[in-house]
Amino acid sequence: MPELPEVETVRRGLASRLEGKTFLGAVSRVAGLRLPVPAGLHDLLAGQRLHAVERRAKYLLLRCDGGTLILHLGMSGYLRVVDRDLPPGRHDHLDLLFDDGQVLRFNDARRFGLLLWTTADPQEHPLLVGLGPEPFAGAFTGDYLHERARGRTVPVKAFIMDQRLVVGVGNIYANEALFLSGIHPARATGRISRDRYLRLADIIRTVLAEAIAAGGTTLRDFSDSDGKPGYFALSLRVYGREGEPCPRCGHTLRQERIGGRSSFFCSRCQH
Ligand SMILES: [Zn+2]
Repeated sequence: MPELPEVETVRRGLASRLEGKTFLGAVSRVAGLRLPVPAGLHDLLAGQRLHAVERRAKYLLLRCDGGTLILHLGMSGYLRVVDRDLPPGRHDHLDLLFDDGQVLRFNDARRFGLLLWTTADPQEHPLLVGLGPEPFAGAFTGDYLHERARGRTVPVKAFIMDQRLVVGVGNIYANEALFLSGIHPARATGRISRDRYLRLADIIRTVLAEAIAAGGTTLRDFSDSDGKPGYFALSLRVYGREGEPCPRCGHTLRQERIGGRSSFFCSRCQH
């Protein structure tokens, strides 16, 4: 599943290729993804200029003259910018056409993605309005985490993965950030000191920034007209490495389900 760093990488690729272009229209080959594709999408888009490609959590916001396209990649979706003459392949459900002959093509085998159109402020859309701050926003601090943690007994890993608290900390990044912070993923949220939360907030930002930086090197793949973009191969410290030695102390890494998700940790380094 594309996580926030992948979506940010896609956003940068789209912004550099598509901002300023004018839509010719759209072709939909499917009635709906996770939600129905807007009726009359072709007519809605025709003649609209794409001003900016923004991101909120894992939603891409394509700002146009008369409204905003809200796009989510779901579990398996990916976008390519291709020439209009390239015939659509399997699961190429949507084409957004530009007047220079280029097409933004949305492939989504599992159809958990979505494409919506709104003329209102997209930040106020029901899907977006309840989301927590962006991890790189000034509002996301260790003090914010510590304040929200007070009295909570949920495992800290479930706490930081809650999109109402902060967006973009998916399972991989939660595991990695907790390892680097020395915090056990099952530790009760309310029983972690302010100092440790200050460090955790910094580390969450660092881990996500590293992944975004790694993604920059795959931007070329993103525009490739054949095949999927390679979601970047990150060098992960604990995720998926149960049974391997801890990169810090050599103790065997463990895996347990915590808060319903696979959790990888070192029981010696994390407490
Ligand atoms: Zn260790």
